[in-house]
Amino acid sequence: MSQKYVIGNYKLNPATQQDALTLAQNLTPSACVVGIAPSILHLSAIKSVLADGIALGAQDITHKSADVGAFTGDVSATQVKDMGANFTLVGHSERRQYHGETDEILSQKIAHAFHAGLSVVFCIGETKDDYDQKRTQQVLSAQLELLAPFAKQIPLDTDQTLPKLIIAYEPVWAIGTGLTPTLAEIECVHNFISETLSTLQIFAPILYGGSVNDQNATSFAQSPLIDGALVGGASLKTDSFAAIITAFS
Ligand code: PEP
Repeated sequence: MSQKYVIGNYKLNPATQQDALTLAQNLTPSACVVGIAPSILHLSAIKSVLADGIALGAQDITHKSADVGAFTGDVSATQVKDMGANFTLVGHSERRQYHGETDEILSQKIAHAFHAGLSVVFCIGETKDDYDQKRTQQVLSAQLELLAPFAKQIPLDTDQTLPKLIIAYEPVWAIGTGLTPTLAEIECVHNFISETLSTLQIFAPILYGGSVNDQNATSFAQSPLIDGALVGGASLKTDSFAAIITAFS
């Protein structure tokens, strides 16, 4: 079985650092690569309690600068790396939707992340309208295009625990809704993403995200086309997240 990855995205949760630490302390290394992206505020405290081998990431970095500058309220890739993070999410649909993040902004973020030595979990996905209008492939291929200039920076083979680039396919309509595409639909999309990436000379694991839980994880995990899961809500429940990790291990 190829290497699988399970990454938790805590979003704006939990309300206290103590609760974040409790979640993180319960994680143990597993046969799949496990990672979490807590609030940036909690990165440093979590780093100090996280078991060796669990990857730590940010949910976002600024596009304005890779390191420092007069950008009030922003947090840079270099600062995140300095706090002990290994990766950052880029392009989550909530950032695209609520913060107007364009392809140009996302490419700057990827460039800064690579510059600082962070891996990137690049999130892509279609809206419900795109899905209904059968535009999923068209939307994904446009979203993937911005990766082309980075092809030479992404090694074909990596002996690192975390590859430099991971793709997370997250249909916008499946995030936090309890809805998911069928397994066959996800496999078809993952196949399409993989073909699109190979035309760009890029090879990266492809995770599925969107309402993954302890009930549906096993069927997703059994697919050779699904390299892992990006998990939102269920990553905040210790038992559910552990069951998802077990399913992919
Ligand atoms: C996400 O936001 O990345 C996500 C997958 O959320 P959920 O698992 O809650 O649908």
